[in-house]
Amino acid sequence: MTLTETHCPYCALQCGIHLIPEPPARGGHGPGLRLEPAGFPVNRGGLCAKGWTAAELLDHPERLLTPLVRTVAGDRSSPLRAASWEEALARIVGAIGASQRDHGPDSVGAFGGGGLTNEKAYTLGKFVRVALRSSSIDYNGRFCMSSAATAANRSLGVDRGLPFPLEDVAQARTVLLVGANPADAMPPSMQFLDAGRAMGAKHIVVDPRRTATARGAYRHLQPVPGTDLALANGMMHVAVREGLVDDAFVSGRTTGFDAVRAAVNGYWPERVERMTGVSEAQLRETVHLLARERPAMILTARGAEQHSNGTDTAQAYLNLALALGLVGRPFSGYGTITGQGNGQGGREHGQKADQLPGYRRLDDPAAREHIGRVWGIDPAELPQPGLSAYEMLDRLGTPGGVRVLLVLASNIAVSAPHSSHVIERLRALDLLVVSDIFLSETAALADVVLPTAQWAEEEGTMTNLEGRVIRRRKAAEPPGEVRTDLRFLKDLADRLGRGAYFTDEPREVFEELRRASAGGLADYAGITYERIDDEDGVFWPCPAEDHPGTPRMFTDGFPTADGRARFVRVEHRDPNELPDRDYPYVLTTGRNMQQYQSGTQTRRVRSLTVAAPEPRAELHPDLARRHGITDGDLVELRTRRGAAVLRARCDPGIRPDTVFAPFHWPGINTLTDPALDRHSRMPAFKACAVMIAPLTPT
Ligand code: SF4
Repeated sequence: MTLTETHCPYCALQCGIHLIPEPPARGGHGPGLRLEPAGFPVNRGGLCAKGWTAAELLDHPERLLTPLVRTVAGDRSSPLRAASWEEALARIVGAIGASQRDHGPDSVGAFGGGGLTNEKAYTLGKFVRVALRSSSIDYNGRFCMSSAATAANRSLGVDRGLPFPLEDVAQARTVLLVGANPADAMPPSMQFLDAGRAMGAKHIVVDPRRTATARGAYRHLQPVPGTDLALANGMMHVAVREGLVDDAFVSGRTTGFDAVRAAVNGYWPERVERMTGVSEAQLRETVHLLARERPAMILTARGAEQHSNGTDTAQAYLNLALALGLVGRPFSGYGTITGQGNGQGGREHGQKADQLPGYRRLDDPAAREHIGRVWGIDPAELPQPGLSAYEMLDRLGTPGGVRVLLVLASNIAVSAPHSSHVIERLRALDLLVVSDIFLSETAALADVVLPTAQWAEEEGTMTNLEGRVIRRRKAAEPPGEVRTDLRFLKDLADRLGRGAYFTDEPREVFEELRRASAGGLADYAGITYERIDDEDGVFWPCPAEDHPGTPRMFTDGFPTADGRARFVRVEHRDPNELPDRDYPYVLTTGRNMQQYQSGTQTRRVRSLTVAAPEPRAELHPDLARRHGITDGDLVELRTRRGAAVLRARCDPGIRPDTVFAPFHWPGINTLTDPALDRHSRMPAFKACAVMIAPLTPT
């Protein structure tokens, strides 16, 4: 019996698991593997329901086992049929050639994902710039982590979600969690919060819903969605007025505080209470705990960040952490909890529209020079930055927009904001190519569908929410005609005459990635597969093989020009949409425990769908009564973009002016607002105006 040590395919915690061979299930296609939790540092033997059932994906009867193409090329109303790789690739190459000849290089693009291994994310970014010579690439992490990443980059000089190991959370005496619900999103991580609480730590959760995380906390602050920034500035106001600012830290290790101090003058607690709904007493208590009950941490997640002012909101909490002198001290600091499996690595290696590997900027001449050298091309050949994810999707099939799109590891027909519009745009493409393991809602729209290997069928690395680079190890061969994305991209590059620049061997890609990242912010130069094996993963930055890696960042300085962290003055702005007479409530979206992202995988796992069979619209019993709704009724949620029908779930733990819907099912994102954050280009998933009505029984 050969045991394979690897990691869960889902979220950014990347729990350690063991895969053990066993006879395949009847009717299954895969190798048959049993899964057990491992004692890896982030999960210590724990797994959530998603992780426990992840092996079911491998031999799932709905696995795609062969490429699919439309029976009549160019006619999406014709059914998909099985095809050879040769035929599928020929259709793609033909469409790329025609599109680039008639509409220019940027008319062909790619949409990547935060679930791709580092090797695949790196190769996809390089493929678009070198094989397609196009600027049209972005990925679903733009919808996930981009606001917090933008704030951290401008303030701390670098974005590593948690700049300390997760185990440090257990040592913090005060933890402020803003828009984060790890009890549902990544349950094994709760052992660190629970350990802290058992030793007397106080946790304060900021969330419009009384989530499982909020229920276990010392305090739950329930602001109006979209007012988290005002709350943070209110806390900063109290810190300034009541002498809680760490003056030595501010003067010794930061710049720009005076502007922030002036800006928060206007956020006196009574006013902030009116803006946010959080009482003055709770606001004051929170700041005093953070300042006095130390070590202390501030952790944000998507609830605070997925707004049209998400970058500034994350910045406001970063400002607070800096003013209180929390950053760079033991068991202390600011962090953001990354969501997707390789959400961290996925944003470092070049699949963002404006980025080159090593977290380098595409418009930086020195970065272009370095990457041009590593890739063996003239830096002048590298395209300039392209459009961000939603901006690219919004223009699909229009003059000047992308006309041939490759989608990897994303189900944008479900996960993009205003998804009905995005589906319309996908339909307008000349050719849509989707690589996936199942026929996702996006794949069902495609002209060509490519069956890809999944987590236990290929080698590679992932970078978890702590910046720990870990190995995903192969336990079985891919079934049927399934190929890895590295092989697909190499095959395509061969046919485009650029194959010499690519390899489909993960280890060779990683060796090149090490060179490409060397000297960058996310420096992997000293990380090898062997070190990852020996050390339970290696934390970047790790510039040399004799460097120990960096579990804790900012202890001596910040990677900014002057070595200091920067305060940035930020002001509250109302969400793009406020409730009005027609749409009187706030819609916010989020996760539930049994489903993951767009549900492509988890909606196909029986035990998970039994536990969470459908999305429920969560609303306060008072709001339900006002509209004659009772628990379990079908209700219509309607926003300015469309409508969705859901069953109601009445819960006194949610604000009476707010409706919550989980985003794992098709149709929910029809409702959400694509208004973009001006810095990060993050859509406003977490707050838009909605009306609710019971559906009259027929
Ligand atoms: Fe997998 Fe995340 Fe669950 Fe861990 S917490 S088992 S990584 S989904």
